[in-house]
Amino acid sequence: MAEGKPSVAVCPGSYDPVTNGHLDIIGRASNVFDRVVVGVVEQPVRKQKTLFTAEERQGFLRDATTELANVEIEIFSNLLVEFARDQGAPVVVKGLRAISDFEYEFEMNQLNRKLAADVESMYIFASANYSFLSSTGVKEMATFGGDVSDLVPKPVAAALTERLAR
Ligand code: ADP
Repeated sequence: MAEGKPSVAVCPGSYDPVTNGHLDIIGRASNVFDRVVVGVVEQPVRKQKTLFTAEERQGFLRDATTELANVEIEIFSNLLVEFARDQGAPVVVKGLRAISDFEYEFEMNQLNRKLAADVESMYIFASANYSFLSSTGVKEMATFGGDVSDLVPKPVAAALTERLAR
């Protein structure tokens, strides 16, 4: 990065809800970049209606990142590359889990590069203990009364139980 210019990265996602896997990536990105802007997608295209509103998802993320002084949480509803530019971020950071993430990310990377060659995507590999952790999996477990307290922050576990437990 150029001297004197703060390095800024955007970490996008639906975060419905945030998991410890997301937090691992956000924390690791915050060790590398001066400023990390977590972008909460207001209405994800490839998913059904979200369980939590964008404001709720933002609130859970804010709660879980209070100790990371260089991390902020914003909601966005425009193109990711435009959001990154608005934030002054030349870099988008994403987490990569098992093989399944690769194909989707590979395609999105090509599309985003076509749209905005000045915004670079970088990937951080998931930590081994979170490689198979997804928001979808956590919601499924909570629906059937499974214990998700090791997988998500405490307030998220409570909200999941309240909203989903059958
Ligand atoms: P999900 O696929 O769980 O619904 P999002 O759409 O919110 O997640 O994803 C936001 C970003 O976080 C993506 O780059 C995704 O690959 C990454 N991510 C999600 N879960 C994990 C995890 N357990 N470990 C590492 N990265 C993850």
